[in-house]
Amino acid sequence: MIASERGEVGLAAGVDLLRAGASAMDAVEAAVRVVESNEADHYVGVGGLPNLLGEVELDASIMDGATRRAGAVAAVSGFPHPISIARAVCERLPQHLLLVGAGAERFADEAGIERGPTLTDEAVQMWRRGLSAAGIDAAEARHGPGERAYRERVLERLASMPVPGGPWDTVNVLALDAAGNLAVGVSTSGYPWKYPGRVSDSAIIGAGNYCDNAVGGAACTGRGELAIRGTTARSVLHALAAGASPEDACAAGLAETLELPDDFRSPLQALCLAPDGRHGGASTIAGASYAVMTADDETFEVRKRRQV
Ligand code: ASP
Repeated sequence: MIASERGEVGLAAGVDLLRAGASAMDAVEAAVRVVESNEADHYVGVGGLPNLLGEVELDASIMDGATRRAGAVAAVSGFPHPISIARAVCERLPQHLLLVGAGAERFADEAGIERGPTLTDEAVQMWRRGLSAAGIDAAEARHGPGERAYRERVLERLASMPVPGGPWDTVNVLALDAAGNLAVGVSTSGYPWKYPGRVSDSAIIGAGNYCDNAVGGAACTGRGELAIRGTTARSVLHALAAGASPEDACAAGLAETLELPDDFRSPLQALCLAPDGRHGGASTIAGASYAVMTADDETFEVRKRRQV
């Protein structure tokens, strides 16, 4: 299994399942759930940074390389494990692929997926500090006296916010099981202070997640709008299919995406796992890394990503 930064906390849970003969889909879901439960991670699941209105909205997707079936959810509130809702969409609502907002929450209730708080005090404090740093009166914002005025001026607020500084990273988890099947899971609280209802690449198959046993798995973190415009995960796999190594394929997918004009450029990263277990990563940030753990390992190892 491989995972993006802060995904390493979930690898042991996933690898334990793989050792017991579980599928790559099971391992990916289990690993991502651990990351979603980690309150110290402010970019995924519980503890994730909220949107412009101070509400946590989560996105996730999962793709099965054996069937190329996928499930995804976006802008989900009140559920700590969007990856499990995405998996349920994939397996229990196969006529659909992506559910958003209230519909996704309704389906999650019907599927028996647990509700729970996602906004933590620490995330609220970080959110307010970010507003203050942008010169927005934090006392007016949600949980403050001027909440209504704040909400009425939400567009203006967003326009005045700078691109958030990193890290604000999604988690990517990619697994290869003993049967030779690949799966990829992605989960995020998305761009902090995002406009309510904004959907990231993490929920978009082809952009932030793609998986095909015949080629490989790939996933992205970083500026989601760019990964959507560049269909970056799929681009990485096109390069892999053309003979590039996983690391070269990530670098090629990012380089192609970075040709796009973008006034809000911020980091973009990709990870790739080949059907034979080779893996690699690339990033626009110096010193970026990812974690690897196999069934023979007691713990994960950290590997460097190539900088593009
Ligand atoms: N891809 C996520 C988004 O666009 C965030 C990230 O990975 O940094 O919201």
